[in-house]
Amino acid sequence: MDRSEKLRQRARELLEKKEVVMVIGFGPPSDSGISPVLFATTPEEAENLTASTSCAQNLANYLLKVRDRGRVAVVARGCDARSITVLLQENQLKRENLHILGIGCEGVIENGRKSTACAVCRHPNPTIYDELIGEPVPAPEPDPEILKADQEFEQLSPDERWERLSAELDRCIRCYACRQVCPNCYCPVCFVDASMPQLLGRTHNLSDNMVYHIIRALHMAGRCVECGACHRACPVGIDLMRFNRRVAKTVRERFGCDAGTDLNQAPALTGFKPDDPQEFIQ
Ligand code: SF4
Ligand code: SF4
Repeated sequence: MDRSEKLRQRARELLEKKEVVMVIGFGPPSDSGISPVLFATTPEEAENLTASTSCAQNLANYLLKVRDRGRVAVVARGCDARSITVLLQENQLKRENLHILGIGCEGVIENGRKSTACAVCRHPNPTIYDELIGEPVPAPEPDPEILKADQEFEQLSPDERWERLSAELDRCIRCYACRQVCPNCYCPVCFVDASMPQLLGRTHNLSDNMVYHIIRALHMAGRCVECGACHRACPVGIDLMRFNRRVAKTVRERFGCDAGTDLNQAPALTGFKPDDPQEFIQ
């Protein structure tokens, strides 16, 4: 039995036995090769699920929207599973209300090639699941061009990096698509929308854009799972993954934390160690 058939069979069983009220997964790929998100609430609807992992969305985002409906099953690749872990750590989801159908991921294909995030993915297999559909997949060789460009960016002086960042973020139109698709960006009132007091100007000049992106980067530090959903959603093609990878790498190096890979390890910026080498903590 192939992976898609196994997935459909388990989804049907879960719905027939009423173990879950819904299965969230991927529908058949469209002509563009991208699979839409599918919400199956009946065994018949589960017939349309596919194990093709070329889905542009991070499915953890949808769990937040249906968390009051009862127990839900969700198909989870590496990055979906890591986001689910972060949401569990932050008490946004209840583990007993989830049935995680893990699946090894071959990456999202865009315009005939792997998307930027997937081309350097370090965790294609789910880090948390109730059952694994099919076999785990090997981690892909990271795209050398992307790694080289990251290294070049790191080696720039702070002034040069600021210049590069400014040039990129000057193009931002503040549509907030990057925020909307992010499962780990869930505050009921985002700081950009607050009006009493208003914390951020409504224009999309460089200064306001910088404030938005820098504060968001700080909010996501140690929590971003590098799924690339924001990057794919950006209508003006800002290279958000270059900055996300840089922040995630800094957190790994300085705090030894890889977001969402260990349910028992608190996210980097939510805890402290009494033996922290930095004097301020003592
Ligand atoms: S980031 Fe990794 S797990 Fe997520 S879609 Fe891309 S290859 Fe799959
Ligand atoms: S999706 Fe792109 S244009 Fe829209 S707010 Fe985010 S970075 Fe700016």
